Amino acid sequence: MIIKIANLSEGIHEYKFNDTIENTGLTEPFFGNFLLNVKLAKTHNQIILNGDLKLNARFNCDRCAASYDSIINTGYKMVYLFGQHAQDNGSIDVTYMSADADKIDLANDVRDYAVLSIPMKKLCKENCKGLCYKCGKDLNEGDCGCEKENFDERWKPLIENKKTNYK
Ligand SMILES: [Zn+2]
Ligand SMILES: [Zn+2]
Repeated sequence: MIIKIANLSEGIHEYKFNDTIENTGLTEPFFGNFLLNVKLAKTHNQIILNGDLKLNARFNCDRCAASYDSIINTGYKMVYLFGQHAQDNGSIDVTYMSADADKIDLANDVRDYAVLSIPMKKLCKENCKGLCYKCGKDLNEGDCGCEKENFDERWKPLIENKKTNYK
């Protein structure tokens, strides 16, 4: 994922990358191919990059544990500044380059943004009913018939305790 910038004219340039996840150095939960569309806006001392990344990922649902495939669409923006001292200004989205840099390599950024795009909450579907906490049946396949108390199981000993105390 290298873009040659040595003789790149000022203005907008677009690139498409389509490769396998293996060649990117990414592993699970990603699989198959990915697609990266890049738009560069070049001026005399900087390049602004807009990346649009599409990946396939396989997760296990947080509620019912079923494996499911998902297409992740994520975008990122990077500013490349030329001829400035490489000092950390606290922003993760700026890359400093020497004035005579002739290429930019996207591989590291693509890996980082792919990993950042993994959702915190993984659900096979928005309204997944999950598993019965008593019998373990997948409630998406139907009701199991277990009695559903509307309080948290963890409070049960406390409540039982209270009952005896009031006798
Ligand atoms: Zn689920
Ligand atoms: Zn049940």
